[in-house]
Amino acid sequence: MSKGPILKVHNLKKYYPLKSGIFKKTENSVRAVDGISFHIDPQETFSLVGESGCGKSTTGKTILRLHEPTSGEVLFNNKDILSYSKKEFRKKRKDLQMIFQDPYSSLNPRMSVRNLLLEPLLTHDICSKAEAKERIIDIGKKVGLSKEQMSRHPHEFSGGQRQRISIARALILNPKIVILDEAVSALDVSIQAQILNLLMDLQEDLKLTYLFISHDLNVVKHISNRVGVMYLGQMMEMANTEELYENPLHPYTQSLLSAIPSTDPTHKKQRIILQGDVPDAANPPTGCPFRLRCPKAHDRCAIEKPAYQEVAKDHWAACHLYDKGEQLKKNDFISSTNLI
Ligand code: ADP
Ligand code: MG
Repeated sequence: MSKGPILKVHNLKKYYPLKSGIFKKTENSVRAVDGISFHIDPQETFSLVGESGCGKSTTGKTILRLHEPTSGEVLFNNKDILSYSKKEFRKKRKDLQMIFQDPYSSLNPRMSVRNLLLEPLLTHDICSKAEAKERIIDIGKKVGLSKEQMSRHPHEFSGGQRQRISIARALILNPKIVILDEAVSALDVSIQAQILNLLMDLQEDLKLTYLFISHDLNVVKHISNRVGVMYLGQMMEMANTEELYENPLHPYTQSLLSAIPSTDPTHKKQRIILQGDVPDAANPPTGCPFRLRCPKAHDRCAIEKPAYQEVAKDHWAACHLYDKGEQLKKNDFISSTNLI
């Protein structure tokens, strides 16, 4: 296997055209993903967080070409998978799997668990029937489904168990990368913890790489090695998990983190209330996408889009507060928000 990141996403864009009128002319477009870049190392968990509508799911879907990207590069083991024909990509597709929030809509209710697990093996023409049987028993054990549960149908299971079936269905193909899109968001907290622990065990056991997508910063903190914070289709900040939660640099990340209830009662937190809603992705603001809700916005933020730059080692942020010569404002900002 090649060295370096297993996945590199470079300047990825996905614009959905907005059509109107009787001739369905493209009037404008929704900039769901607007030029994001990141990489994921083998067996790492990289998470994308941000409020609803900021482009997390679209990022996952365009990487897998479920929706074709508008532009950009997606390198899997250093090969640009966007340059493959659809037929070539189909062969690679088993290496990259996606698990969604609602397993009910992705599991055919008329099929037994056994057949749900057999289906991807047949679709990708992966192995003989005898081997398929073994693989099904093996993956069932790994995700905690008993032999007798294999004959049952999705409606006979609880939400957490259904998500185990979805995980088994994705992993039976021996993927290298799994994209988990709000995979535990619909579950109760105690079940969430069980599924997260299962995902972490499977990652180690099967040497998996995860792209974990979630709006829930508590869940993300638990499972991630590194985290990227998205807003209006753009990356606002990225750092390793501990660094991001201890020392958030971007006002958007600071606001999101300030909204998480503290588990320590002696620890007083200053809550920053985010004003207003996420702007329309078809008509984003000029300059910085976050400036209309930013407590520290100044004139320049309306005129010039901040560069996405490495502010500290492996810690990236897109904010004018960290431009050279803005040191005074940065210090002023950190002390005034005083989150920790
Ligand atoms: P998230 O997963 O972070 O909640 P999404 O990627 O689902 O965000 O959506 C990002 C933006 O793209 C939103 O403004 C959403 O309305 C828009 N969008 C998502 N899917 C489509 C689609 N198929 N057609 C048009 N707009 C879409
Ligand atoms: Mg989503």
